[in-house]
Amino acid sequence: MNGLIVADVAIAGGGIIGLSLGLELRRRGLSVVVVERQKAMSSASWAAGGMLAVHDPQNPAELLPLSLRSWELYPAYLERIEELSGLKVPLRTRRAMQYVEPARGDGGRYGDAVTAAEIAEFAPGLDTGSHQFEWLDEGSLDPNDVREALPPAFLAAGGTLLEETEMLSVQSGANGVEVETTRQRISAGMFVNCRGAWSGETSGDAERGLERLPVAPVKGQMGNLRCEPERLRCVVRAPGIYLVPRGDGRVTIGATIEHVGFDETVQESQVRQMAEAALRLLPEAEAPAQMDMWAGLRPGTPDTLPILGRAEKDRCWHATGHYRDGILLAPVTAHVMTQAMLGETTDVGLEAFSAGRF
Ligand SMILES: Cc1cc2nc3c(=O)[nH]c(=O)nc-3n(C[C@H](O)[C@H](O)[C@H](O)COP(=O)(O)OP(=O)(O)OC[C@H]3O[C@@H](n4cnc5c(N)ncnc54)[C@H](O)[C@@H]3O)c2cc1C
Repeated sequence: MNGLIVADVAIAGGGIIGLSLGLELRRRGLSVVVVERQKAMSSASWAAGGMLAVHDPQNPAELLPLSLRSWELYPAYLERIEELSGLKVPLRTRRAMQYVEPARGDGGRYGDAVTAAEIAEFAPGLDTGSHQFEWLDEGSLDPNDVREALPPAFLAAGGTLLEETEMLSVQSGANGVEVETTRQRISAGMFVNCRGAWSGETSGDAERGLERLPVAPVKGQMGNLRCEPERLRCVVRAPGIYLVPRGDGRVTIGATIEHVGFDETVQESQVRQMAEAALRLLPEAEAPAQMDMWAGLRPGTPDTLPILGRAEKDRCWHATGHYRDGILLAPVTAHVMTQAMLGETTDVGLEAFSAGRF
């Protein structure tokens, strides 16, 4: 162990949540150090599909105010990352075709029904069978773009990023927090737990000086098909499978939902099964023999809502448990957490997301 770092805020976890919060705190003038056990943006935040799925019918209703606010904040959030990093993070799609459950009926549909002419325009060759789809106004981005741009943006904003450094424990006292890591000690005014799937009880948090949180890893496997870029120009969400075109011939497909602990191995047979389902929808695409495949761990909670707000310990906070929507929710999480930490009224009420609800 060498050296002491002094900062206003120490954040554990250099995924999209920790770094976006760090960026927003820097914008408000606070000094910030982010501690990341591996490389920044190398866990769920990189593995994600990148859908900004504001109106996904699978989202719990309580998530909608946060999702809508995040979608509003997205343009300024991306602009700031681009300005600071000098790297582009474009929205790769701006519409999504969402399968409509027959039980929901017309009354349950949020968007306009997708017509045959629109399929010919946005997804020529898409075989929807007898299924109904609706249009949702939502974007998607390539998490690889965020992985390239967000860490340098945080550094350019004046943040400190300690990679390959594990947060070991946190002690809080009258004047601040002391954070032990595998490299340096940090003395800070506040601490935020942004450790994604590792935020929960299975990772020994009692020993780290934090309360136990019911956050558990939910594995997702993904892969890339290939097709001509103009064959698919919107996200498609069908039963059991989604397709996210990147605009350059890659079509990301996903994702499994597996409760198998901290296992990030890829089972090729499972990704090939998803590829078969995707190819039934989009027969013009192809599943290469050497197909890109990967897996990541979503930070799941019992009610699938994030945990945002104060921790039990003084001067400690949680911003975790974003499950399937952490890419969507990064801007609003950064925004409302900063407001809460500075004692301001938050744009969206955080009661439904408190750690105390469990
Ligand atoms: C397959 C898949 C598809 C997804 N698709 C979408 C999607 O389309 N849209 C969407 O919005 N969301 C999606 N998600 C969810 C989204 O990826 C997550 O909600 C989001 O990335 C969580 O961000 P995070 O920063 O909290 O976690 P992570 O990105 O996992 O970052 C947490 C970091 O904490 C670090 N860490 C852990 N313990 C310590 C420690 N003790 N000390 C220091 N560092 C530590 C880890 O190394 C890790 O880098 C998907 C997730 C998966 C896995």
